[in-house]
This record gives sequence, structure tokens and C-alpha cells, in this order.
Amino acid sequence: MTAVEAQQVRHLIGKDWVEASSGQTFESRDPHDGSLLGTVARGTSADGEAAIAAARQAFDEGPWPRMAPKERRTILHAVADAVDAHRDELAMTETRDGGKTITQSLHAEIPRVALNLRFFGDYVAMAANEAYPDGDLLSYTLYPPAGVVSAISPWNAPLMLATWKIAPALAFGNTAVLKPAPQTPLTAARFAELALEAGLPEGVLNVVQGFGGDEVAGPLTADPRVDRVTFTGSSATGTKVMAAAAANLTPVSAELGGKSATIVFDDADLDVAVPIALRAVFAGNGQVCLAGTRLLVQNGIREAFLERFTAEARKLKVGDPKEADTFMGPLIEQQHLDKVHGYVDLARSEGGEIVIGGERLSSPGLADGFYYPPTIITGLNNQARTAREEIFGPVETVIGFDTEDEALSITNDSPYGLAGILLTQNLDRAHRLAAHWKAGTVWINCFFERDLRLPFGGEGVSGVGREGGHYSRDFFTEPRAVTMRLRG
Ligand code: NAD
Repeated sequence: MTAVEAQQVRHLIGKDWVEASSGQTFESRDPHDGSLLGTVARGTSADGEAAIAAARQAFDEGPWPRMAPKERRTILHAVADAVDAHRDELAMTETRDGGKTITQSLHAEIPRVALNLRFFGDYVAMAANEAYPDGDLLSYTLYPPAGVVSAISPWNAPLMLATWKIAPALAFGNTAVLKPAPQTPLTAARFAELALEAGLPEGVLNVVQGFGGDEVAGPLTADPRVDRVTFTGSSATGTKVMAAAAANLTPVSAELGGKSATIVFDDADLDVAVPIALRAVFAGNGQVCLAGTRLLVQNGIREAFLERFTAEARKLKVGDPKEADTFMGPLIEQQHLDKVHGYVDLARSEGGEIVIGGERLSSPGLADGFYYPPTIITGLNNQARTAREEIFGPVETVIGFDTEDEALSITNDSPYGLAGILLTQNLDRAHRLAAHWKAGTVWINCFFERDLRLPFGGEGVSGVGREGGHYSRDFFTEPRAVTMRLRG
């Protein structure tokens, strides 16, 4: 039995592909035209518990945690090779399931899936360790795996973010239960199937499908057999996840929402700055946690910059994400489109001016999808709700400023602290601002560049903890101090 057979998507528990214990299903549909892509097992809490039991058994009795890191690396590389070999298929599935453009799926996200696996496989196999010889004492640190990891992921970059969790969890010797978002269940199931074929032992990766805390996700956060919870999603859900995990003192890594600022100074090279600022807010259909959704422009160049920014935004092709030249596809679902449009209406009522966009697209070819255009709002300040709350759509709120101090104070006046994008040619200013920016990541004259050795996470309501490189090791292992007295 396979994961995706005649559009039936099942859970993977141990080595078995199974229906939901309740027999219930839900549908996954293409946000471009509403076509049915999958009928998916709607997991119950019993299904979540069964998956945890399978992961627990694989951890307590199976070979995976006992393998040498280099053996795990070999298998993770084989899984990455399988991802590469199925890149076209996985990319098209991702694009159809979530509306991400095919260019992004094919050239950024699915390659990053393979990179996540290779990077963490290599990292664990080659990691340096500390040892402190001190007279007749020899002390060193061991990094045994934590145990069973629950990985809960969102819909906006489904397999890329799922493997950002799964790859380090498995590389460090843990076993895992993955719950993808219900809007985008397909690639996780296919990935798990490829991983088993590539040699991942049974029970090491389990995948359950379905919804939040009252259903399959409940035990993933609250069951005492779970040793770590790694969660990516909204700040509101992250709060619930942390509260549930607190009952067992289970450590949680939470990568949450954002309301990041792009700051453009009058010394910026506009040929560089305009495309970066555009990509920062409109790529990924605006459904990117790191998006620069507050555009702070120094008043001296505000008009000139906005003119170019708006002109370029008008040129972005919004349409079928399967076409190679499309820049923005549809939003994920009707409810989300309503939320995004609701914020634009709110901006109007708060006195904002909608410079471009602001209405759902319903031209021929787009009417059956959840299409929303690049939308630029001026005339509001940083206290407006569109500037404070995460909209998670292609909506930019433009705010002027005069001085560096003013820019920094507006930027940092936010409950979020995920990322920042700085466009300037002044080196001193760049490093001064990076040092004081309330953000887990600051990009200077670039956007979305990721070195997987660096910490990734957010401040404030944007998250708790960091993952990446040795930060992932700290989270996915239980560091142990060993001291031995040597006999002379
Ligand atoms: P969401 O919080 O609604 O759902 C995320 C996941 O949590 C889904 O799998 C969902 O089914 C599950 N879930 C829902 N309720 C739960 C509960 N009570 N217990 C356990 N799991 C539960 O988020 P979303 O709409 O899927 O994703 C968009 C959000 O994710 C945005 O806020 C975005 O900023 C954020 N995000 C953050 C990052 C980051 O790295 N910081 C990356 C991508 C997305």
C-alpha cells in the first residue's frame, strides 16, 4: 500500500499506511481552481497516540538511536538523493497543494529539503566535541538524542519547513512524529514514502494527518512519551502548544509569526533596494513569516522610492502558479483571503490610502482561485493594526521616517521580532542597526539568504528558542557531562 493512491492519503504509523481510526477524512484542494487533490485521513487523538507509541518503540528498541552518526548520515543522504530524483514531482505537488509558484518549489523549496537532510546528516557526523583534560581528571560532553520528537508544521512552505525539523531531529538520533498542516498534507506523505524506500528504518519517521489540539495534534504536545516539540506556526497556536507541553515540562522550540520591517535609507542603491523590498513582501504570495510587511522609507526619498516600488509591483505577474513566469499564485484558502481583505478594509477605515491592489482578483483564469494582488497602503503610522498585526498576505504598509533613531524605534515597536531587512550603503549604519534590531535575523542588502549553521528563530511573540547548526544540537539532544578520574 502506498501513501498517495487514487488520491487517498493515509497516516504512516510504524511501517503501516493506515486510515484514521474514526474512518473520517478531509479534502485537500488546489487553491488555483478548487480541484480535488487528496482525500486525507482525519487523525484523532488515538491516531496521534499510536504514532507516538511507534516512535517510542523505534527509539527504545530500534537501531536508529544506536547507529553511528556516519551511518545515519548515509541514510539521510540516500533520502536526499531520492528527493532530488523526485524533485519535479514533489515541486508540482507542493505547487498544486499550496499555491506556491512552480519556480519557487522547483528551484528553492524542494532543493532546500534535500539540503536540510544532507546538512544535518553531515553536521552530526562531523561535529566537533569538547574534552577538558585537567590533571588526573578527563571531562567531556556527550550528546545523546532526546528521544521522541513531535514536529508540527504550517502550510506556507510545507516540506521545506517539515524537514527543517525532521532532518536535525533524525540526524541527532531521535525518532519523530510529523504532523503537516491540513491545508497541505500531500508532500509530507510522499516524502515519508520515499524515505522508507531509501532505507529509513520503520518507526523512525511517522506522519499523522489532520487538525489541532482537540484532534490528532493533541497528544503530540501533551503526551508524556514525547521528549521534544518543535512547532512552526502562528503565535496564537504556539502559545497553546507551549501551554500543553508545559504540563510535562517538555521542551518546545517555537518558530512563530512576524511583522518584519524593511528599512530603506536615502543612501540605498535603488537598483538593488527596490527588487529586494518587493521580493521581501510579495514573494511566496506574501504568506511568508519573514516578510518585510512594514516598509520604512526615509522621507527624503520616500516619493521617488514609492514611485519605483509601485511601478515594479504592478508588473509582478499574479496567476497560475504552475506557469514559470508567475511571481504570485493564489492565497491558501477562502478563509485566509477573507482575513487578508479584512485587514485592507480595516486600513481604509483607519484612514489609509490603498495605492495599488486592495480587491480580490477575479479576471478570467483567476476567478476560481483565491487570488489577491500586491497591495500597498500609505497614510497610516506604526500604531495602525495593519502595521502591528500579522496579515500573512501581499499587503505592505508604508511608513516614512527622518532619522536612524526614529527608524529603529519604529521597527522595534512591535510585539514581533522575527526578521529585518536593511537597505543602505552606509557600513557603519548597517552594523549599528543590526546590533540593536529586535529580530532573530537581519539581512543587509539581501533577503532570505540562509546559512543553516546560523541560529534561526525570533524574539518577542515571534518565537522561543533557536534552531540551526549547534543550536539544533542543543535542542534535539540531552547534553551529558562525563568526568573520569585517571589512575596514574
Ligand atoms: P497555525 O498556527 O494555524 O498552524 C500550524 C500547525 O499547528 C498546523 O499543522 C496546525 O494544524 C497545527 N495546530 C493547530 N492548532 C494546534 C494545537 N492546538 N496544538 C498543536 N498543533 C496545532 O499556522 P498556519 O496558519 O499553518 O501557518 C501560518 C503561520 O505560521 C504564520 O503565523 C507564520 O508567520 C507562521 N510561520 C512561522 C515561521 C517561522 O519560521 N517563524 C515559518 C513559517 C510560518
